[in-house]
Amino acid sequence: MPDRYAVIGNPVAHSKSPWIHAQFARACALDIEYTRIEAPLDAFSATVDAFRAAAGRGANVTLPFKQEAFIYCASVSERAREARAVNTLVLDRGEPWGDNTDGVGLLRDLESNLRFELRGRRVLLMGAGGAAQAVLPALCAAGPARLIVANRTSDKARTLAARFEGTTGCGYEDLGGDAFDLVVNATSAGLVGELPALPSAQVLFAPGAFAYDMVYGRDTPFLSYARAAGVRASDGAGMLVEQAAESFLVWRGVRPDTRAVLAALRKG
Ligand code: NAP
Repeated sequence: MPDRYAVIGNPVAHSKSPWIHAQFARACALDIEYTRIEAPLDAFSATVDAFRAAAGRGANVTLPFKQEAFIYCASVSERAREARAVNTLVLDRGEPWGDNTDGVGLLRDLESNLRFELRGRRVLLMGAGGAAQAVLPALCAAGPARLIVANRTSDKARTLAARFEGTTGCGYEDLGGDAFDLVVNATSAGLVGELPALPSAQVLFAPGAFAYDMVYGRDTPFLSYARAAGVRASDGAGMLVEQAAESFLVWRGVRPDTRAVLAALRKG
């Protein structure tokens, strides 16, 4: 019988994780079953309990359960503790243990795949929801010269930034004439075809800047805004694949090669 893994979310039908993990398993010659589980909104814990009872060895957790997964775990990794959210559950080593691979996934995509070095750069992180919260510790640890968190609801950005030394939170209207080398869009605005209320791209992006939208598989208004100003830009497909590879490493002790999988995902 293959080892059982799953992605748990609501909704979850759109998730590419089963396909990505099937590619990893094939490349590593491992017999793995990876399915989608839609948990009722009020029954995340019961759903994970049932999966554990059915010999589930590990799971990815997606919207809206990452905070609940954090609470579910008996213990968590340092990076999950900093993010206060779990996207990777380990269920086959005693009590449930949680990790968060979103931050390292973003960093690996930026630095390894896209060749954008973060150290010493001026970075703007847009958003203060679960995704921003998950990647902020990794962005801080990468040693940027400056790290600003901006959000539509500015108080949420201030509260989030206050947890990380050297990080400032504000609203988009407070950005003024500041220029950035990297702007990461961790909002869900692109999913509804919207652009956060940013200043002019000519002002926001420093020469040679990079724009990154965590939303994947579509051209968002933010990507168009950046590209129209001649700025290099990427969607979040690489982050998706890299965070999955890190989960696979946590579960199986082997890091799968991501290049072919990312190329195939982009081809569609
Ligand atoms: P979330 O917790 O619901 O937070 C949503 C964030 O987007 C909030 O900061 C919200 O601002 C902001 N926002 C929503 N609509 C907006 C608009 N029209 N204008 C400006 N700001 C807006 O969601 P999340 O979990 O952080 O996820 C955010 C996005 O990241 C999702 O699209 C998700 O698909 C993507 N993501 C991608 C990956 C990947 O691997 N590539 C991983 C994780 C997440 P307010 O606080 O003001 O409401």
